[in-house]
Amino acid sequence: MSNPLLSGQGLPQFDQIKPEHVSPAIDALLAEGRKLIETLATTETAPTWESFALPLEDHSEKLSRAWGPVGHMNAVVNTPELREAYNDNLTKLSAYYSDLSQDERLYQKFKGIQSSDAFSSLTATQQKIINNEVRDFKLGGAELPEDKKARYKEIAKQLSKLSSQFSDNVLDATNDYSHLVTNEAELSGLPADAIEAAKAAAEENNQQGWLFTLHFPSYLPVMQYADNQALRETLYRAYSTRASEFGSSELDNTPLIANILKLRDEEAKLLDFANYAESSLATKMADTPEQVKDFLATLAKRAKPFAKQDMADLKAYGKTLGFDALKAWDISYVSEKLRQEKYAFSDQEVKQYLPENKVKAGLFKVVETIFGVQITPAEAPIWHENASFYQINNAQGQAIAYFYFDLYARKGKRGGAWMDECITRRKTPAGIELPVAYLTCNFSAPVGNKPALFTHDEVETFFHEFGHGLHHMLTQVDEYSVSGIKGVEWDAVELPSQFMENFCWEWEVLKNMTAHVETGKPLPRELFDKMLAAKNYQAGMQTARQIEFALFDIRLHSEFDPNGKQTSQDVIEQVREEVAVSIPPKWNRFQNGFSHIFAGGYAAGYYSYKWAEVLSADAYSLFEELGVLSEEAGTRFKTEVLEQGGSRTAMESFVAFRGREPSMDALLRHNGMSEGTM
Ligand SMILES: [Zn+2]
Repeated sequence: MSNPLLSGQGLPQFDQIKPEHVSPAIDALLAEGRKLIETLATTETAPTWESFALPLEDHSEKLSRAWGPVGHMNAVVNTPELREAYNDNLTKLSAYYSDLSQDERLYQKFKGIQSSDAFSSLTATQQKIINNEVRDFKLGGAELPEDKKARYKEIAKQLSKLSSQFSDNVLDATNDYSHLVTNEAELSGLPADAIEAAKAAAEENNQQGWLFTLHFPSYLPVMQYADNQALRETLYRAYSTRASEFGSSELDNTPLIANILKLRDEEAKLLDFANYAESSLATKMADTPEQVKDFLATLAKRAKPFAKQDMADLKAYGKTLGFDALKAWDISYVSEKLRQEKYAFSDQEVKQYLPENKVKAGLFKVVETIFGVQITPAEAPIWHENASFYQINNAQGQAIAYFYFDLYARKGKRGGAWMDECITRRKTPAGIELPVAYLTCNFSAPVGNKPALFTHDEVETFFHEFGHGLHHMLTQVDEYSVSGIKGVEWDAVELPSQFMENFCWEWEVLKNMTAHVETGKPLPRELFDKMLAAKNYQAGMQTARQIEFALFDIRLHSEFDPNGKQTSQDVIEQVREEVAVSIPPKWNRFQNGFSHIFAGGYAAGYYSYKWAEVLSADAYSLFEELGVLSEEAGTRFKTEVLEQGGSRTAMESFVAFRGREPSMDALLRHNGMSEGTM
């Protein structure tokens, strides 16, 4: 039997991939990679792009074609067997990449190409790859003496393991918890679909009553709508103490956080950086931790008065509902009530107008209009019956990219929404390999014979992830390592995604993607006007919250001494004192579930969400000038930003698109926080 992970071409055979395929495939490819590296490293002739860099690119792609689908399935159809295979091989892979990134012989070869006469005759894209390699080798410890190199390797291995364990713990702690309600009276206030879903969940578990979980589609409606304060408190407490010392000690992320921070600090110091944030920023658009802190401080200064006012309004309104003081588990509930009173509509009301098919068609229409492409359903092997597959054609009717959707929450699927690369565009002697993207969300699945209905927030998320997808799929870069989102600075990577969110707020766009689930009628204009008025509801509080997370992250990685007396809990409490307008209970362990910085790539990089918002709001302002569905603006965005991928710096792409450097004005205006608007 051939191993489906080793085909090296075409789409992944999701219907054939089994956990037992993982180790043989990865072992074979790693052996092949090590052999290749040995050959390249010991070849005596002067290295060139074709003889040296290209074979490495080829193998790197081959490896990702085997490992990519494994990582994807581990995230969306997790089983104990697959997880074990994934974790075992992750250890091998990180050892391999760590060896690769520290192989001084390869480093010397890349430096050889960089300083050769032939360098100037390489394409700008190829030059960028060589320059990135030299930079990354330095960051990967290639210039370290032997003893330090060994330690560096050990740290990388441990960090990779700890990160994976961190996110497993969050997933397990989330999956392990459920709360059964047997008294119907306790469901008061909850929307009908949330009650139905809870009933279905109980039935699936052979229980009588209504089962609530910590998965967002179950958790969020309770926090927003359940009149029963005790029910909200129960779920809030469970959610905000996930993977902490208050639950199973096996799933406690507290020691993992301490270890991760210590190891990161040690790693940065080995490389001669003062702290981990400095080493993290070496590959980002922002230059120094101070620049990031200044950026956040400027935003905080602008947002805090608005945040305070938001909180004062909420407290005052809470009093009218009989809340003398607002507990953490009352905030979403009272906020939703105040929003309904102020704007007289609810998420639930809007949701009835946003069935999945209309939303999908609306998204496709925007993309097709401004970028001159066409999207049609297509066939491919999938990993779950709820997944689907599509093709993107250019104006000439030629296929240029493909993508998968997997949109509903379910057990064994990691929470949140994300885009991931399946296949990356590149030019090979055989022709162009077309890019393929995974678009994964955790929306509520259809209940009964009704279509899936999305909240407007979910629609935004959907557009957001599709923006990442477009960055990956519309690229025209020919070389693997800087194609699509590859090689794009972390703090610029959210530009296309946040840019796409803007379209969910355009009447011209939104009106065409609505149809009431029962009457088929489009969203009424009055309701849209209310939504628009409500758009910046609590924008101050939300901005303060994002700054809280970003500041926590950057301080943890630049000022905090991981070997000192303080803990990360102390840091988050200090940050909250400074920027938060509502302080959660002392037992809140937000950081124990903060996978972005402990299990994802956002360590010393969480600020990038706001940073990229500045870029995306400013980019969108060209569409405000030239017309919302302006093909001219779309073409410019496509050619100067999306198609360029990582082949040049984000600043170069932005300036080429906008004709100037980015400005904060559009973001503040979009958030209703312009000077003098309070
Ligand atoms: Zn994103």
